[in-house]
Amino acid sequence: MSEILNVPQIFGSDVFNEATMRQRLPARIYNAWKECIETGSSLPLDVANEIADAMKIWALEKGATHYTHWFQPMTGITAEKHDSFIVPTGDGRVIMDFSGKELVRGEPDASSFPSGGLRATFEARGYTAWDPTSCAFVKDNSLYIPTCFFSYTGESLDKKTPLLRSMDEVSREAIRILRLFGDHETKRVIPCVGAEQEYFLLPKDLYAQREDLRLTGRTLFGAQPPKGQELDDHYFGAIRTRVSSFMKDLDEQLWRLGVLSKTKHNEGAPCQHELAPIYSDANSACDSNQLIMEIMKKCAAKHNLVCLLHEKPFAGVNGSGKHNNWSLSTDTGKNLFSPGKTPRQNAQFLVFLAAFISGVDEYQDFLRSTAASAGNDCRLGSSEAPPAIISIFLGEELDGVVRSIIDGTNYKEPEKSLLRIGVDVLPNIPKDTTDRNRTSPLAFTGNKFEFRMLGSSQSIAGPNIALNTIMAEQLGRLADELEKAPDFEVALQHLVCKLLTEHQRIIFSGNGYSDEWKVEAHRRGLSNYPSAAECLPTYVSQKNVDLVVRHGVFTEAEFRARYAIHLESYRKIIGIEARTMVDMAVHQILPAAMRYARDLSTGVQNKQNLGVSCRADMEILRKISAASDALYDAVETLKTNLNRVPQDQEATCYYHDVIRMDMKNLRVQADLLEELTDKSYWPYPTYSDLLYY
Ligand code: ADP
Ligand code: MG
Repeated sequence: MSEILNVPQIFGSDVFNEATMRQRLPARIYNAWKECIETGSSLPLDVANEIADAMKIWALEKGATHYTHWFQPMTGITAEKHDSFIVPTGDGRVIMDFSGKELVRGEPDASSFPSGGLRATFEARGYTAWDPTSCAFVKDNSLYIPTCFFSYTGESLDKKTPLLRSMDEVSREAIRILRLFGDHETKRVIPCVGAEQEYFLLPKDLYAQREDLRLTGRTLFGAQPPKGQELDDHYFGAIRTRVSSFMKDLDEQLWRLGVLSKTKHNEGAPCQHELAPIYSDANSACDSNQLIMEIMKKCAAKHNLVCLLHEKPFAGVNGSGKHNNWSLSTDTGKNLFSPGKTPRQNAQFLVFLAAFISGVDEYQDFLRSTAASAGNDCRLGSSEAPPAIISIFLGEELDGVVRSIIDGTNYKEPEKSLLRIGVDVLPNIPKDTTDRNRTSPLAFTGNKFEFRMLGSSQSIAGPNIALNTIMAEQLGRLADELEKAPDFEVALQHLVCKLLTEHQRIIFSGNGYSDEWKVEAHRRGLSNYPSAAECLPTYVSQKNVDLVVRHGVFTEAEFRARYAIHLESYRKIIGIEARTMVDMAVHQILPAAMRYARDLSTGVQNKQNLGVSCRADMEILRKISAASDALYDAVETLKTNLNRVPQDQEATCYYHDVIRMDMKNLRVQADLLEELTDKSYWPYPTYSDLLYY
């Protein structure tokens, strides 16, 4: 019988969390740390020293021998460099030591992290600084210290710093609004995030046989299997044993690390699954999501599985996304997107709602850009994931409310006069409507917004930085107006109505997958960027630069560095994929098809000598030869075009327009050959093998 897991006991047991700090630190030190967190001030060295010492003793008890500053460079994943605690005593022995200085500041050799031009090569140093708002933890015999990463000249080189800055901004502006509504208690407003993570699991041995999976994380070839996901028999289906033992293990590891892993189930595609944690503040949610992705991969390996986080591992079945649920909460736990019970609470809710709707409309390109990547291009807009057009789904009830405010007409009950903000009570808005519009990229789900565009491998920092900053901007503008208004109620009614009217084009309840929506969206003047190559340039439009600089979330140089890195990674990824295709086509696919053709032709000759019919053999042989020729030509074209990549700005479009198209043509021929070729000749596992192991 397996041991019973005491979840409350193990939860957070590997985290130097608040409870542990309270228990292990002198009250004076604990309070000083608390105060730093609340005021955002930096830690005095004597306090840091005492925390470091307590942290070290705790980590050693947990088996740690090393410590590492854990950070989130602009690549979107995490980085770490481990130092042991050893210090020589001079007599051939060592003691384990860890100082406050080592806790708060580090200097990893950062020269090979992308800097987007922020760091000249002669000054390649990067620094890390402890983020005391996220907890340290022990994993694989190391003490992990979550840190911010920045350059010698102080520019942020990571995803965490701008996220923290954006959280401060939205808090500051939201509080201005709350004060206007008579809330004098709230000290901080916190963006809350719950990110649902989709992923695929494959058997390790099959994965190892495919170069495309190993090098690019997705299949670049593969004919459609006889069965896809048309029966929908995987979604929420019973979880197979190997997978469920993986999930059990995963949960346990995550719980030990204080990750609030809550929900697990099978997803739409065969071999696809999802994990959702309970939401937390955006910063912790971002750390947690990084841990989730990392532990998923490690844990899968332990179970002889491979976890694929790519947005589109298989053509023809659903890809993987990451649903980013976002809301704003006060430090006293009030959700600012919960419609209230009184007219005054409702008015406040409508202010936040109007700020959100208008902000998303005005900065739709910014938000869209945060989900733009080579991997996500394979998924967005293909009738399984949201379209590439940003719009907001509000649900029938809230839609009705917004409509009545815009039109100045009656809401539902005809005898009632028009909805007066701050006077009338809103109709009941259900928290969990089952008929939620799954085709919407951004849906209101009762008390939060669910952003569904993000790809499964992407950091959640991007969209949350955008949502926080956009919201800060709109709330700030509203506060400017409302603070100076002679009549608050009148100004409120006027401003909310004005914003909703001006930005109503972003609200859409229909089928986002349909072609009509593309036409309609165009008519409404909404942006539609089907690919990252088309979308990314809008990221650094003057409007967006002004926004992020105005709020101190990025300096212009920092922002442009992100842009440069996104473009570079887009080009690199497509380049690697294209070269992998060439390699597989030349060294595996063509030789397999040729071997089969050769054996077929020997068979044909023998049969002809014997005077028996060889019509089928001949037909297959002919088709294989034709497809082989076409494949050969396609490879040659791709190779030639890969040698012609322009060096300048045009490279991104070239990869999108030319290379991706060549890859598509090559794949068509390869998949045709796969369908024609005897399976025993085929060089790697097929979709059937992979998806129905
Ligand atoms: P689903 O979207 O699959 O129906 P839920 O709506 O229950 O699932 O929750 C999805 C995610 O949203 C979870 O991570 C959950 O913790 C998170 N969530 C719930 N409420 C909020 C909120 N107020 N703010 C941010 N995230 C939230
Ligand atoms: Mg969801």
